[in-house]
Parts: sequence; C-alpha cells; structure tokens
Amino acid sequence: MDSNLNLAALEKVIDTHQEGYVLILSNRVYFANPAAHLLLSRISTDISKIQYETLKNHNQYILRSMPLEVGQLKGELVHIRDRNIRSPMDKIKKFFGDYDLLSGLINRKTLERLLRAAIKRANRIESKVALLQIDILDLHTSEEYLDIIEKYIEHFSKICETALRETDSLAHLAESSFAVLLEDLRVVSDASSVAEKLLKKIYDPQNWPKKTPPKVKIGVVVFPDGGLTASELLNNAQIACESAQSGRYSYFLPTVGEYDRNLMAMDMNLRNALAKKEFSLVYQPVMSLVSSKVVALEALLRWNNPILGQVSPSLFIPRLEISGAIKNVGMWVINEACRQFRNANLGPDIYLSVNVSPIQLMQTDFPTQYFEALKSNQLQTSEVILEITESTSTHQNKIVAQNLNILHKKGVRLAVDDFGTGYASLRSLIDTTFSIMKLDQSYIDKVHQNQDEATFVKCLISLAKALNLRIIAEGVNTADQPMLLKEYGCDAIQGTLVSEPIDILEVYSFIQSFKPTFS
Ligand code: C2E
Ligand code: MG
Ligand code: MG
Repeated sequence: MDSNLNLAALEKVIDTHQEGYVLILSNRVYFANPAAHLLLSRISTDISKIQYETLKNHNQYILRSMPLEVGQLKGELVHIRDRNIRSPMDKIKKFFGDYDLLSGLINRKTLERLLRAAIKRANRIESKVALLQIDILDLHTSEEYLDIIEKYIEHFSKICETALRETDSLAHLAESSFAVLLEDLRVVSDASSVAEKLLKKIYDPQNWPKKTPPKVKIGVVVFPDGGLTASELLNNAQIACESAQSGRYSYFLPTVGEYDRNLMAMDMNLRNALAKKEFSLVYQPVMSLVSSKVVALEALLRWNNPILGQVSPSLFIPRLEISGAIKNVGMWVINEACRQFRNANLGPDIYLSVNVSPIQLMQTDFPTQYFEALKSNQLQTSEVILEITESTSTHQNKIVAQNLNILHKKGVRLAVDDFGTGYASLRSLIDTTFSIMKLDQSYIDKVHQNQDEATFVKCLISLAKALNLRIIAEGVNTADQPMLLKEYGCDAIQGTLVSEPIDILEVYSFIQSFKPTFS
C-alpha cells in the first residue's frame, strides 16, 4: 500500500516533465510519462508489454538509469532520449547557453571550456596558451554617440577581430569586458604582439569615423606560467587587466615561487581527492579499421575539485606520480574501471584498456593486486589491456621489468602508450612483453604535413607489424586520416573522430548504434 502511494507521487512528478522518463519495475516498463510515451510508441502502443531489455537494445534510444527503491519495490527510473533528435528547444538552449546574446560572441562559460581544451593540447605539445582580457573604460560615454549599446559592441568586436587570426577565439565576458584566447604560442612575447596589434586597431581613428575611439586596457596571462587551470587563468587575466594603465597592456606576473605555489595547491587538494570522491572515469572508444566496430574502451581518469575545477590529467597525473599517490589512485582506477566495465556487460568482443603508470609497476605486489581486482570483478585476464607509457624507468627499473614479464607470462596484454614520445621507443617494440603499440597523436597530426612525415609514420607501422604488434593510432580527429592509416597497416583508431571520452552509462547505446560517418 505504502509503495503504491509513493509510486503515485513519483508518477505525478515525472508526468509533467518535458523530458522522457520511464519507471521500470520487474524488468518491464511500469509507467511512462507523455514524452516517453511518444518515443516508445515506435516499439508498442501498449507500454506495459515492453521489456526493459528491449529498450536497452534499441539503437534509437539513449538511456540513463537511476536505481530506485519505492517502499519494498526495487526498480529503475530511466531517462530516455531519441539518439537522433535534438528538439529545436535544445538547439536554442544550447545556442543561448554558449553565446552572449548582446554580441553573438561566445560567452564566459564557452571560453572556459575552450580554455580547458587548449590547456590539454598545450600540455601534450608543450606549447603555451595566452588569455587576454580587454576592458572598455568609457563604454557609457561612448554609448551616447553610437545610439545603442548593441551596435557599439558589435562594431568593437569587429575591430578586435581584424587584429586576430581565424583560430583565435574572441569572447564577451561582461558588458564592457572581452577576452581573447590564443593557442599554440611559441614564446610568451607572441602574446605581446597580439596585445599591441589590438590596441593599435582599437585606437585607430580610421576605425571610428567621426567618433573618438574608446579607451581600453588589456590584461595578459600565459599558461602555464600564470596559472594552471582555466578558472585560475581567467582570474589572473582580470588581475592583470586591473593593473594595466589606460591604453596599455599588462602581464599577470606570478610572484617568485607562485608557480611552485600553484603546484603546492594542486598537491594539497590531490591529497584528499580520493577520499572526497573527486575522481571519476570516462571511456574513449577504440574503433577497428577492419570491422569498423568499437573494439575497446580506454578508461580515462577525471579530477573535479571544488576549488580548482576540472584539472587535466596531464597536469595532475605527474603530481600523483611524484608523491607516490598514483599507487592508490591507480589501483582505484583499475578496480573502478573493472567494476563499471563488468556492469556494462558489453559482450566478449569489447576490451577494457586501463592506463598504468610505471610508478605503479615499481611495487613488487602490483601483479597480485591486479589479479585480485580482476577476480573480484569476475573479469578474465584476456578482457583487459594495460597501457604503459614508455619512459626510461619502464626498462631500466628491474622491478618494473620483472612485473611486466609476470603480467605478460600470465596472459595480460600490454600496450606501449604514446609511442614515440618517450625514451625507450624502439627497445620497447623489440621487447616481446608488449603486444600493442599506441602511436602518439603527434605522429598522427603529422601524417598530412608532408611526404617525409607520412613515410616516417608508414615505416614505423611496418616495423611494428613486422614485430607482430597491433597498432592503434591515437588522437585521430579528421575524416581523411583513417583511410590513410588503414593503408599504412594500422589496425584501429581512437580519437574525437570516433568519439570523445564518454560516461559509462552512454557506452552501451553508443556501441550499439555506432556507424562511422567516415570511410
Ligand atoms: P593517453 O593514455 O594517451 O590518453 C589519450 C588522451 O588523448 C586522453 O587525454 C584523451 O582524452 C585524448 N584524446 C583522445 N582523442 C583525442 C583527439 O582526437 N584529440 C585530442 N586533442 N586529444 C584526444 P586525457 O584524458 O587528458 O589523458 C591524458 C593522459 O593522462 C593520458 O594519455 C594518460 O597518459 C594519462 N591518464 C589518464 N587517465 C589515467 C589513469 O587512470 N592512469 C594513468 N596512469 N594515467 C592516466
Ligand atoms: Mg592511454
Ligand atoms: Mg596515449
């Protein structure tokens, strides 16, 4: 009786919801709200006949489920969405969510997202990223002669854009505040040239026919010197802007040791991250170039800290390695990835791939701990691949070499990760403990640059093939790369072209409905 009452209350809540929700009890659809009814009508008009399994196997739906206990009853509340349809409302929401209404430029939230991606790239290729904040100091007086503020802002953005490259991103942060994201800088002074060019354009009377140009100042901050995370860089660009004089630009200058202090702040927050459940995992699919199907999922660690925000693994993994905390965190990754992978129940054709730091392999009991994790999650040795980033320590450290041997002998498939960026490249290929080579993104990016680079990649792949290794290309992100890589003998690809890393709840439906849009 009690359960029924609670169920009725729950139905009432979801009944008016615009998104589709279904209640699953005893593996059947027990209730569907109107939005879900519409979606389910494709399968049957009598929803009570629909099995949960049928829903899960249907390519067309993306499901997110939440376990539910209503009184004595156990079930699931499932959010259901049509894979291919984004409602016009969704699109509008996204547009307004990403852009600033006044200027049509990207807003602060979008800039922060781009900044996070830029930091990630900069970490990989060891380049710099700059953020410039431009504040207009006399917006209100200027407004009078240009009638309306919208036109003024539009005109101002156009002038800024003439000083920028197409790849630079201009954002509107607040009414009189703009920002520019510059990527791939070689030296810090590249940012100065852009700041100077911006000031020149903004102050050029020819750009303001019959009007006086506005007064502005610019604050510049450069990653990694001036901050390590997106939110820190945005804050520091503001600080730099406040300290600049009118008509000038000023850099955010970390005080002596500030960089170290940033790292210290990161280390301090990392210490409690595991206990505070700040870590999570996402999975990036790997696609076979032979079958065009998803063949593996790489578990990737994410750290979301309330103070620092989302920090890139390329920044925090090295800190975990230095402090040794990677041993505990790495084992948590292995256990959690195995548990989630087991529960996702993806069938025998999909492997799980987990990254293991050489520091983890320096523990003599690593193999024992690893096999325990497999056993407690009921996974076979053959279902999981371990990715090890090559470094000098991988081969020179005796315990690491011993552990790799033990794992190999017990049938664990080992992959050399980021091949080509470390020290032991060719050695690791000849070493029979490895059976997979993951070719680093930097090589994949070069495939199209010129014939010499292409020949080099082709030779590397042939060499790996001759040594009986499977080759997975990393960071494949343009549609013309797969065909070329296939031609060179590459077995599988991974990268944004196939998919960004996704949540475990999305993995099943992703795999079911995956059809490459490239050949
Ligand atoms: P990785 O193992 O080489 O993982 C692939 C990285 O490339 C991931 O970055 C992924 O998001 C990124 N990526 C994939 N496709 C593309 C693409 O098309 N374009 C671009 N620009 N990037 C792409 P992520 O997640 O930031 O991880 C960075 C590195 O951090 C990983 O590189 C791995 O070395 C390390 N890492 C991540 N999770 C773990 C973990 O659980 N344990 C250990 N020891 N290391 C981890
Ligand atoms: Mg990896
Ligand atoms: Mg890699």
